[in-house]
Amino acid sequence: MAEIRETSATSATIAPAAAGRADGARLRGTRAVARGEEHVASWYAATTPPRTFRRFEGSERVEVCVIGGGLTGVATTLALSEAGIETVLLESNRIGWGASGRNGGQICSFFPCGDAPFVRDLGADGARRVFDLTERAKETIADVVSRYDLDCDLRWGYYNGCEGPRQMSEARRLGEMYRRYGCGSARMVESREESCEFVNTPRYIGGLFEETGGHIHPLRYCLGMAEAASGLGALIYEGSVVLGWRVLSGGQVQVYTPRGDVVADKLVVACNAYQGFGVPRINRAIMPVGSFIVVTEPLPGITEIFPRDVAVCTLKHLGEYYRRTSDGRVLFGARANYSGRESVRNFDEKIALAMRRMFPSLGGVKIEYSWGGTLAVTARRAPHVGGLGGSVYFSHGYSGSGVLLTQMYGRALAGVIGGDGGDFELLSRVRAIPFPGGGLLRGAVLTATGLYFRLDDLRK
Ligand SMILES: Cc1cc2nc3c(=O)[nH]c(=O)nc-3n(C[C@H](O)[C@H](O)[C@H](O)COP(=O)(O)OP(=O)(O)OC[C@H]3O[C@@H](n4cnc5c(N)ncnc54)[C@H](O)[C@@H]3O)c2cc1C
Repeated sequence: MAEIRETSATSATIAPAAAGRADGARLRGTRAVARGEEHVASWYAATTPPRTFRRFEGSERVEVCVIGGGLTGVATTLALSEAGIETVLLESNRIGWGASGRNGGQICSFFPCGDAPFVRDLGADGARRVFDLTERAKETIADVVSRYDLDCDLRWGYYNGCEGPRQMSEARRLGEMYRRYGCGSARMVESREESCEFVNTPRYIGGLFEETGGHIHPLRYCLGMAEAASGLGALIYEGSVVLGWRVLSGGQVQVYTPRGDVVADKLVVACNAYQGFGVPRINRAIMPVGSFIVVTEPLPGITEIFPRDVAVCTLKHLGEYYRRTSDGRVLFGARANYSGRESVRNFDEKIALAMRRMFPSLGGVKIEYSWGGTLAVTARRAPHVGGLGGSVYFSHGYSGSGVLLTQMYGRALAGVIGGDGGDFELLSRVRAIPFPGGGLLRGAVLTATGLYFRLDDLRK
């Protein structure tokens, strides 16, 4: 399959051919983003103190403009602001409105693809550097939470549960990979009894426990970082959809909104699965995938289900991911929908069923919240980061591990803009493979991929 080669930060502007203008992009395509919407009615929104940012109006001249107020855009903006770089962030809806404010809050320890794409494209040394960057990203999350005093329920500990021998072999391979990179904090759990010390389900025969993964309240984390960036001088706007942009002859970028323009030296596109821009090189590398979550009423016996306050996932392609919440509920996510649609009929019942299979004792428990969201996956399940000519950068396609990776890629974007492009250069050398075709063909590829994952999971 053809690959998408990214330009380096310094090479000439690439014209996104189908964008309607030679040197820019405009909002178009099938996934045009919503405008001015409130957060979905999630447990996260219900447990986050209200915080609004104003709407963009007029004109602004800054060093950097960031489009998208999810974890990628906000982490990038915070890192830029820490470096004293003037930044405007434009969010179409509310900060954390997209996947970032709706996800399972799981801080995965590493990439969902394992190390294979990195070893192949960057060699053993490059893959080691990538591994070190993920370790540093976890430290950065801890540091950001403590430095800015973010109230976002950060907890460490991540358990990969296994339902059968094939998943146990997978867990051993994963543990082996951590050891190869000198990370000794992952350990195998070889018995059902010990597994129940992490999560009390009859379905797991063992698993892999990782000290360095964890969980967080993603909406409060995202909003807290936005607030911190704003405190450092970043201009953060909500309800401010970007309609398109144009690279000016001097290399600056003019960014259009319905109520005015921003002119910036650099532009960061951080729209992930919600982007509606007509930039084929960005769009073709990612597929939108729906994921869904239910949250129960508070349960008096929650510590019997989760003796340890860790994030849990089942080690399979379309594994369930779940944990307890700070107010004693079960937050349970499952069932990726490969049609990219956020609303699937009866999805809450289907997820509740999966939850009850995992915990038969939750048979009569009430579901108080349910919602869906869209994430972006790449063909190799490694993120896609790069530059579109000298002034425009993007990062997306974390394939289900964005809570950790947005901090890492956001910092890499801020680094290259601030003059330290080492991490960005490394990460952008990982090739992205375009999904074929548009419209119907992409849908068919997605459905086939989903079906393959389901069948493969059944064998585990
Ligand atoms: C239900 C669900 C569960 C998940 N669980 C986990 C998990 O447990 N752990 C994990 O690591 N990952 C998880 N993920 C994935 C993770 O949430 C994403 O990888 C991550 O949030 C991506 O962040 P982002 O900032 O790149 O994108 P998003 O958070 O989607 O943000 C993109 C933003 O761009 C804005 N935007 C788009 N177009 C425009 C425009 N034209 N103008 C202005 N703004 C625009 C959108 O409004 C949106 O707010 C989950 C995702 C979902 C949906």
